Amino acid sequence: MITFSSIRGRIGMRPIAGIKAQRLRHQPRSVRDRLLDYLRMNVGRPVTGEELRYVAKEATEWARRVRELRSEEGWPIVTRSSGRPELPVGIYVLEQERQSPPHDRMISDGVRRDVLRRDGYQCQRCQWDHDLWNRSDPRHLELHHIQHHESGGANTADNLVTLCTVCHDEWHARRDSSTFEVWLTGSE
Ligand SMILES: [Zn+2]
Ligand SMILES: [Zn+2]
Repeated sequence: MITFSSIRGRIGMRPIAGIKAQRLRHQPRSVRDRLLDYLRMNVGRPVTGEELRYVAKEATEWARRVRELRSEEGWPIVTRSSGRPELPVGIYVLEQERQSPPHDRMISDGVRRDVLRRDGYQCQRCQWDHDLWNRSDPRHLELHHIQHHESGGANTADNLVTLCTVCHDEWHARRDSSTFEVWLTGSE
């Protein structure tokens, strides 16, 4: 049987995180909601797959539920294979308490990985990358559909571009007629 103390001992979970995890685990809510709650208690901090499995209280579906939170709901939950290659295997980080815009969701992990790698894990407008992260400027990288998904834009690498959240917000707040390509290269 998995118990709070055996999990905590095995993976060195912080005591407070352990108490929160134990409380969450017993809430009569969906696995997806419990996983999201736990990640939101740990924004910006590494969480192990074992912690997530413990909170999910089940052994097989939790990883799929985490992928759904990322792909369908747009939560920036990164792993080694979905955006942050420097992370150890089995570590998950909710980078920020923010969901990507609905039209920038539903991107498969494989395509996400290809686009980030192609773009050198850098914002294609301002060149921000994760090495520049700091607490007073907690941005992260998102993928933006050049042609919006709902107007026929495909979920393929050639229709996607890596932007930091600051530039992404700036583009979506624009109400003028500048084209994306001109804005992106800063040559307006
Ligand atoms: Zn976008
Ligand atoms: Zn940027």
